[in-house]
Amino acid sequence: MSIAVAAPSTARETMRPLALLADAGLEVPVLGGGRVAHTNLDLAASAPALATVARTVGDLLPWYSSVHRGTGFPSEVVTELVEDARAVVSRHVGARDRDVVVFTRNTTDALNLLATAVPGDVVVLDIEHHANLLPWRSRRLVVAADTIEETLERLAVELASKPAALVAVTGASNVTGELLPVARFAALAHAYGARIAVDAAQLLPHRAVDLGELDADYLVCSGHKTYAPYGAGALIGRADWLDVAPAYLSGGGAVSNVELERVAWHPSPERHEAGTPNVLGIVSFAAALQELERLGPDARVAHEAALTERLERGAASIDGVRVIHGFTDAPGRVGIVTVQLERGSVGLVAAALSAEHGVSVRAGRFCAHPFFDRVATRANGLRASLGLGSSSDDVDRFVAALSSIVADGPTSTYQRTGDGWKPVADDRPKPQIFRAG
Ligand code: PMP
Repeated sequence: MSIAVAAPSTARETMRPLALLADAGLEVPVLGGGRVAHTNLDLAASAPALATVARTVGDLLPWYSSVHRGTGFPSEVVTELVEDARAVVSRHVGARDRDVVVFTRNTTDALNLLATAVPGDVVVLDIEHHANLLPWRSRRLVVAADTIEETLERLAVELASKPAALVAVTGASNVTGELLPVARFAALAHAYGARIAVDAAQLLPHRAVDLGELDADYLVCSGHKTYAPYGAGALIGRADWLDVAPAYLSGGGAVSNVELERVAWHPSPERHEAGTPNVLGIVSFAAALQELERLGPDARVAHEAALTERLERGAASIDGVRVIHGFTDAPGRVGIVTVQLERGSVGLVAAALSAEHGVSVRAGRFCAHPFFDRVATRANGLRASLGLGSSSDDVDRFVAALSSIVADGPTSTYQRTGDGWKPVADDRPKPQIFRAG
């Protein structure tokens, strides 16, 4: 009688990328010669293009020409594409009739634009990325608690103490990947007469987002975190404040008529989009969002949830490594795991991960210094982040490499430079993509 033996769990759990990214198959040099498959676990910082998006950009390039006022056929094509892209972004996030889509450079730019339009105080939590802390002119800070429930209560106390125009909250933390219950924050803000802006830089790449369902007023996001790294982002939301705010950029395209003493400004979005728009960025951003829709939110969530669990479990199993969390009751998370090390420098470990193992991560405080300093006990953390192009091999290579460096130290010698830790003898050749001179 034969007995069925279950396959080893790692074999059953093997997960391939959900979609092809432009860096699929990339090999990177390691110290001492040779190349290894690149393990890209830095997607929260900037994600490679989806292969389909890169193809769209290639298809667009021959048609690239002037936008909006050109009379040639390619100009008509490109103008239509930019406006189609606006409609795609609008539909993707469930924008309503009263909303506009203003194209920006990135999330930071979108928040800085919104900051010029807010007619009052802005309340933020201390967990925010600097992009959602620094632009607000009249900012009031609420220190988050270690539960979402208590954090909402603290926010309510702050809003009750004095009216605010806006609550600006992240949809997902770029440090811990933890999701925030945006709809609850929106309901609370509205109950106190404030609007809500959602920093979706880390949310949009991983979740379906619908402004109507969340009852959120504004959403900001970046193409480069959403598999379209061509320099566009967006502010989507209620037109009224934006229609009367001073033009974010002054110049051609933002005006209907200019006399020497008088200027007639367009309403938004044109009001804030002077100058030649980033056609490649805008069209590629929309193409990426359409591809995310095609893949479907459930497949994305399932793929990333399994990998994130594997990543956290693997990292937490290493002696001397502790995973950082902000909340004990977060309603889920995206594919971000940040750890701190009991001993040694994370900068050195991150440098060795890259130079000796071809693993890309991020070290530091992730532009969220107040949050990091509150939840971590060490000066810096190491963040691994994943997405559509990630596989279980990526996670396993990272965990094995981290484990070996933490236990035995790097193999090569490194020195601390003004630019972080670097190998003393770096023989890794850079690719000749462009040579200055
Ligand atoms: N908010 C969050 C939560 C982020 O993670 C980031 C990028 N790390 C930003 C804002 C800023 O995004 P960008 O650099 O694209 O402007």
